[in-house]
Amino acid sequence: MTRAIALAKTKTRSIAALLLISLVSLLSARAIVLAGQRPTPIHAQQAQPSAGGWQFDEEQEREPGWREVVGAQAWDLGFFAAFTVLAMVSFFRKSVPLKHVTFAAAVIYLGFAKSQLISIVNIFALVDWSLPIFKYSLAWYLLATFTVLSTVLWGRLYCGRICSFGALTQLMDSVVPPKWRYDVPLEIERRASLIKYGVLGSAILYFIVTRDRLIYRYIEPFWMFSGHGSLVMWIGLAVLLVATVFVRNVYCRFLCPVGAALGLLSNLTVFRIKRWKECNTCKLCEKTCQWGAIQGPKIIKSECVRCDDCERLYLDQKKCPHWIIIRRRSDFTARPSAAPTP
Ligand code: SF4
Ligand code: SF4
Ligand code: SF4
Repeated sequence: MTRAIALAKTKTRSIAALLLISLVSLLSARAIVLAGQRPTPIHAQQAQPSAGGWQFDEEQEREPGWREVVGAQAWDLGFFAAFTVLAMVSFFRKSVPLKHVTFAAAVIYLGFAKSQLISIVNIFALVDWSLPIFKYSLAWYLLATFTVLSTVLWGRLYCGRICSFGALTQLMDSVVPPKWRYDVPLEIERRASLIKYGVLGSAILYFIVTRDRLIYRYIEPFWMFSGHGSLVMWIGLAVLLVATVFVRNVYCRFLCPVGAALGLLSNLTVFRIKRWKECNTCKLCEKTCQWGAIQGPKIIKSECVRCDDCERLYLDQKKCPHWIIIRRRSDFTARPSAAPTP
């Protein structure tokens, strides 16, 4: 039995390793191709003349109808819907292999193919109410609605399943040997987890004062999926990824402003992780949680990303003391000597 579990674990690790190697190769190839190209800044794109530089008289363009608009985005909407179903099935089934498949899909589809992530730029857009035009950004609105709704219902599910960068670091996590890990002492971890709220607050303040959105490049690494970054940004990203090898999910736990915003929202979570009364003394889940989201019997909602690790333990009738105590009690009452004498 133990051997079978060990084999299953090795198999999962190998699959995750293969996925990760393919992703890293994809990223390196993309970086090499893009290294020779200079990215066109947004303001420069806006300043460019129309195709070919021809100066035609301005014509009133026909506004496309809803059918055309939805038709043009149908593939995107379909893929996103399929991805969401996969994520939710993996979440409700508490399945580790399905979770890894979801991570791979998040990195390849939402990350490299679409570069569609919730970003601090979206928070800036909320601040000055300049959200994307609904009609032309249906997939983005679907992602944003799913993110907000799922956070209110279950907590930071977006971080635990959907975000491409979080998915990439969690895939890394599954292949890095545990002995390489540095476990941040609890007290430092608790304090460091507050940094991300400072980053969020400062970024919003900076934006309100300067209206400069480009600050996002220095506080989040999501630009990596589009491959557009300066040398300094690529070096910063490399340092961050190396740090992630040794300190699990370092960016997500301590630095990410989007994670901080979702953490604040997750205080409203409706369907919380259940606890047994035995959790008051048992430390098993607390030691298992790699996000520093369990303190004694309490789940810290703002830190929890619904990774399922503690929920699998909660349901594990062989490991969780709650079930072990119940089994012992029923074994005891089933003994003939324990039966009441007539
Ligand atoms: S904390 Fe930030 S980077 Fe990490 S998974 Fe959440 S949104 Fe993505
Ligand atoms: S293993 Fe069971 S009793 Fe222990 S903390 Fe987890 S859910 Fe609670
Ligand atoms: S182990 Fe439990 S508390 Fe910790 S992040 Fe995962 S689901 Fe949340």
